[in-house]
Amino acid sequence: MKFISRAEWGARAAHNGHPAVPTNRGVKVHYLGGPYDAGEHGTCAAYMRKVQNSHMDGNGWSDFAYNLAVCEHGWVFEGRGRNAQNAANGNTTLNRDHFAVLAFVGDSGHTAPTAEQVAGLRDAIAYLRANGAGREIRGHRDGYATDCPGGPLYHLVTSGALEPDTAPPGPAPDQPAEPTPARYRTTINGLEYGYGAHGPQVREVGEALVRNGFGQHYQSGPDEDWRDADTLNYQQYQQHLGYGGQDADGVPGEVTLQILLGRIPGQPAVSLAHVVQAARTDPGAAQGHQTHAAEAQLVEQALADEGFLEQHWVDGSFGTRTIAAYAAFQRTLGYTGADADGIPGRRSLERLGIGRFTVTN
Ligand SMILES: [Zn+2]
Ligand SMILES: [Zn+2]
Repeated sequence: MKFISRAEWGARAAHNGHPAVPTNRGVKVHYLGGPYDAGEHGTCAAYMRKVQNSHMDGNGWSDFAYNLAVCEHGWVFEGRGRNAQNAANGNTTLNRDHFAVLAFVGDSGHTAPTAEQVAGLRDAIAYLRANGAGREIRGHRDGYATDCPGGPLYHLVTSGALEPDTAPPGPAPDQPAEPTPARYRTTINGLEYGYGAHGPQVREVGEALVRNGFGQHYQSGPDEDWRDADTLNYQQYQQHLGYGGQDADGVPGEVTLQILLGRIPGQPAVSLAHVVQAARTDPGAAQGHQTHAAEAQLVEQALADEGFLEQHWVDGSFGTRTIAAYAAFQRTLGYTGADADGIPGRRSLERLGIGRFTVTN
């Protein structure tokens, strides 16, 4: 592995240490998003410093978010490094479940990894596995609503091209999907979907597919075990929605699952209108007044989990303490002034709800 330590690329010291993660389920791959143009390797260390600065000064994080990063020349940069909890996957649970590797790939300009970069990603994954990472290789979008790591890189994730043991580079990003049904699993809101997944959520998907006319591949079932027939039926449903290529591989994503079921299984729903109403009503009413107590409490619990609200105030009343806590949370998302007034907006509420609740109208 062509490895560049923190000292070698001139990393700043982290604000504080990272919780240790001795072992987990595997590795998630990320891209930069935004435009990125490939350049000389001599500029890559400076680029690392720039990204670290934006994470620490812009986002207010304690350090560069990822465990490792791989430039287009195939060098592996040490971020938080091995066995460290990252800040890249979306929430604490996701960050504990998988290490995070960033590829220097944008959503315009340099969008598909180079062969050296693919080799570097394999090196990075092998290194993390040697230090406790499980066998899974996933994309950020698996289980989290994001485009990351972009189509070409995600194709490499799902095709197995990033598997360290496989010698040749995977198929080119623009090749069609494999003829055999996809056989990987994805986790959405803590529940698994895809080949080998098991549970009531699998049956729920199968029954919804049948109801909507996408049941033709079932010989028997649907039941609680996800088999190739489920994948093929789901693929037909994805294609019906207009998805193609890797986006229609028969393994659910959050968006198609939400459309199919009208909800994401495993988490409660919070109505944006209800919590806004609560946030406008409760502070002016008597102490402890409740407008939509159950939903307000879910939001409060999330604020408490994130350290913005004392557990004592998780009481179903969206009062002044909750308003102040929500405003503090909004400010961490970069909102200022009237946009950080403590009244939930859709974007901030969805962000807070990741892994906790689904936001409805
Ligand atoms: Zn990402
Ligand atoms: Zn480089």
